[in-house]
Amino acid sequence: TGQGSDACHSGGMTSHAHDPFACFLARPARYEQDEATPDVRTAIAEAICERAGNQGCRTATDLLAVLERAGLTAAGMSRLTALSDLPAGDLDSATMAAQLGSDALELVQQALDGHLAVSNFENFSSRLANIFAYARDVTGGALADYIPELAKQDPSAFGLAVCTIDGQQAAFGEADTAFCQQSAIKPLIYALAMGLNGENQVHRHVGREPSGRRFNELALDPDNRPHNPMINSGAIMCSAMIRPGLPVADRASLLQRFVGSAAGGSKVGIDQAVYESERGTAKRNLALVKLMDEHDAFPEGVDPAAALDLYFRACAMTMDCRQMAVVAATLANGGVCPTTGHRVIDSRIVRNTLSLMLSCGMYDYSGEYAFTVGLPAKSGVSGGLMIVVPGLGGFGLWSPPLDRQGNPVRGIEVSRLLVESFPFHLFAGVTGS
Ligand code: GLU
Repeated sequence: TGQGSDACHSGGMTSHAHDPFACFLARPARYEQDEATPDVRTAIAEAICERAGNQGCRTATDLLAVLERAGLTAAGMSRLTALSDLPAGDLDSATMAAQLGSDALELVQQALDGHLAVSNFENFSSRLANIFAYARDVTGGALADYIPELAKQDPSAFGLAVCTIDGQQAAFGEADTAFCQQSAIKPLIYALAMGLNGENQVHRHVGREPSGRRFNELALDPDNRPHNPMINSGAIMCSAMIRPGLPVADRASLLQRFVGSAAGGSKVGIDQAVYESERGTAKRNLALVKLMDEHDAFPEGVDPAAALDLYFRACAMTMDCRQMAVVAATLANGGVCPTTGHRVIDSRIVRNTLSLMLSCGMYDYSGEYAFTVGLPAKSGVSGGLMIVVPGLGGFGLWSPPLDRQGNPVRGIEVSRLLVESFPFHLFAGVTGS
């Protein structure tokens, strides 16, 4: 289970005398587990049956209902699939220990003990429902119109989903409608490029400073690199470093599978019409590629045109809010997907990705967003917004009308309400709110 902070409070400094920063580093994130021995599984199953009984929960159906109230469903997370196969009738620890892996058992135990990332999930989701309803009344903003597919999006479409580092999920409005991710996919292009090439190689070719310019500005940093991976030039550069030797279609499918794994092992599509329109209106991005090429910014052996093609396919990749929330929760959980229990992204890469989302994820509003909301996030021109609450979970949001900076108007409103309602700002821990 998680490296909770209990040791810090009960053990005090003495138990960690060998490491003065142990308390500080005791993050609540749940990392991947080794499978426990049968004895340990039996012990956990016995504890579960006892606790379930004390809570008036006798059968597998009762147990599933308790978990559902905690935001955990077998449908929403493959870690719990085996739960729905438990025989009807009274809970029995031997069967449970035989059928469920320790990963599922520990999660059930945590749920019964009220030790999940959000302990009162019903209360949390009803407060989120209020935030959603309030933000729905917020109007204003304009659709992106540089391609017809975005210009014809429904301005009233609005979806919001949450997933915690324990896989607790809730969704509101149009959270099941897939839409093209556009720039919201950039953190994942970067994370994959980092995984394939390592930090030094990637950052030899792309910086990590906010550019202070528009996301598609024709500008490079003083070392002739794109300023950061969250703007177009930087994302094209990171695309260039995703298996440059393979055909573009294979590189795109690698990225789709990577994103799908971060999204709980779900399917990530490509909107073909968006992809073709992006290619047809590519003048500015072509100019960026030319500028980078002229300055020898690309790694040796890279075909810049193929990199741009991959970038367009990435912008056209589709997910719904629920999937985005699971991706955000994977980042919040240090790279282990909460719904599958699989490590998808190396923890060091997650740290780098979150740092860049915090400093550069919200176009020319990034500094203001870091100041007022204080969370790593990434928006895109289709109205998508992914918000990460490190150590707790993440949100996926979709609302197409954009403000002047290119961020979804309702997304900014929801972000503001979230930090007003919950201690989510990264510095809430030292200020108490
Ligand atoms: N496809 C868009 C572009 O490259 C993405 C823009 C965005 O979402 O910021 O211009």
